[in-house]
Amino acid sequence: MVSFQDCVMKTLRLLFADQLSPSLTALSDVDAAKDVIMLCEVMEEASYVPHHPQKIAFLFAAMRQFAQELREQGLTVHYCKLDDQHNTGHFTGEVARAIATLKPDRLIVTEPSEYRVLTLVQSWHTSLHIPVTIRPDDRFLASHEDFSQWAQGRKQLRMEFFYRDMRKKYKILIDEAGGPTGGEWNYDKENRKPLKKAINFPPRLIHTKTALVEEVLSLVHSRFSHHFGRLDEFNFAVSREDALKELDHFISHFLPFFGDYQDAMLRDEPYLYHSRLSAYLNCGLLLPLETCLKAQDAFQKGHVPLNAAEGFIRQILGWREFIRGIYWHHMPKYGTLNSLTATRPLPDFFWSAQTDMACLSEAIRHTRDYAYSHHIQRLMVTGNFALLAGLDVKQVQDWYLAVYADAFEWVEMPNTLGMALFGDGGIVASKPYAASGKYIHRMGNYCGSCSYDPELTIEDKACPFNALYWDFLQRHESRFRKIQRLAYVMSGWDRFTPEKKAAIEKKAKEIFARLDANTL
Ligand SMILES: Cc1cc2nc3c(=O)[nH]c(=O)nc-3n(C[C@H](O)[C@H](O)[C@H](O)COP(=O)(O)OP(=O)(O)OC[C@H]3O[C@@H](n4cnc5c(N)ncnc54)[C@H](O)[C@@H]3O)c2cc1C
Ligand code: SF4
Repeated sequence: MVSFQDCVMKTLRLLFADQLSPSLTALSDVDAAKDVIMLCEVMEEASYVPHHPQKIAFLFAAMRQFAQELREQGLTVHYCKLDDQHNTGHFTGEVARAIATLKPDRLIVTEPSEYRVLTLVQSWHTSLHIPVTIRPDDRFLASHEDFSQWAQGRKQLRMEFFYRDMRKKYKILIDEAGGPTGGEWNYDKENRKPLKKAINFPPRLIHTKTALVEEVLSLVHSRFSHHFGRLDEFNFAVSREDALKELDHFISHFLPFFGDYQDAMLRDEPYLYHSRLSAYLNCGLLLPLETCLKAQDAFQKGHVPLNAAEGFIRQILGWREFIRGIYWHHMPKYGTLNSLTATRPLPDFFWSAQTDMACLSEAIRHTRDYAYSHHIQRLMVTGNFALLAGLDVKQVQDWYLAVYADAFEWVEMPNTLGMALFGDGGIVASKPYAASGKYIHRMGNYCGSCSYDPELTIEDKACPFNALYWDFLQRHESRFRKIQRLAYVMSGWDRFTPEKKAAIEKKAKEIFARLDANTL
């Protein structure tokens, strides 16, 4: 119910870069006659880690586009551009400036997605002397309370069980008896096909650059070209209309094969059958529920097989929501964890792609060129290498946060620290996602063009992943012996002779020396 007070109050409604949804709670009762909607581009946010130029351009362009659409609906928008003469460079300064000029009675925001920004917003009531209302973000499908309730009393939080409950709650791929469509909750056993040679993928959409996009690209080029990442391959949708076209294009042309090749890796092919939708979902141009419902609809109409629809829906309804739940359930302590005491400095090649290891060079080049790499590259190539080499968890997280267009701390941190680095000690994953070069060889064709040999472990041409893999298991042996799911791989280590174990350790030392000297 709208109170008399609400009717006379002038409200400033602040939106963040990842809140570009018309259905946002902060906009639900906007009064076109009195209220002002505010968006701001600030240097502090664009540079607290060196964000990829395409990521900055994507978010600034999407914000400007969203502001334009709000104005077209007759709403008043206060938009602070990065190069406005008086831009203070940080959120607090910009909100203070807006309060001084617009003189609102109160500030309304939808809960920021990151702990860091929430803390800042919570401080404004006192520091800026204005009543601040923080509304829940109902674009996510599990509220904080839902997740806490689900987590309560469980010894371990596992995505699979969370996901089943979410399927039931939203009645997605549920049959008439209340069970999973097709009889199984998860069809992953059908989803592990490798790809060994190039196939003809359907073309991706090309987005024409509007004047608005060109202006932002030129701004980003002039201010952020020193950041890692190329700008010239920019091809993001920046409006909801175009993001919906991306979603429909994915569902029609790529989703049918999404399940089959979800774990595959192929040279010169950054996207395979992946959706490329994460950046749009994370900034609010697409909503998770509409995305899942469209995939379900495509299955029900017989356009995509069940393993594909289920696999895709699991990523969004399951993994994405679970990861967010973990973040808020465990913050702020989560960000301080480093359970394997990983402290080796991030090697230079993460910022240059200059390494003889073909898989890493390829994944980092995709990242540089598109502000994107697919999940298996993030997890089993760059992440796996960082895990095995014991790279510093903070430096690795900052890298992931900087280089991907979809990276916001709530989703990047549990994926990197938890899933890839096992730095949370098993909160996200029940065992480390550690793999030798043989896995990378099996799932794709990178090894064919590499100077190293995935079949060798201690020889001159041996793939570095192999010795690092065994050395990693050996370094954390006492801890890993307690993890039941690692019993099989630990028995592999046990079968080596003392001489072989010593040779692996020696090889690993040699790799670490080359890593530290940036010659790997
Ligand atoms: C080390 C590491 C860091 C990551 N950092 C991020 C990040 O900063 N931002 C981000 O959105 N995702 C992150 N992910 C998850 C995942 O890799 C990306 O969501 C995915 O690669 C995005 O590409 P896509 O849209 O083509 O995904 P698809 O493979 O097509 O998957 C469909 C959708 O499912 C969701 N999804 C899939 N897996 C996950 C997951 N593990 N966590 C959350 N959502 C998921 C995404 O919204 C994605 O768009 C990370 C994964 C790892 C291993
Ligand atoms: S041989 Fe090893 S380093 Fe080379 S591409 Fe294969 S897995 Fe990567």
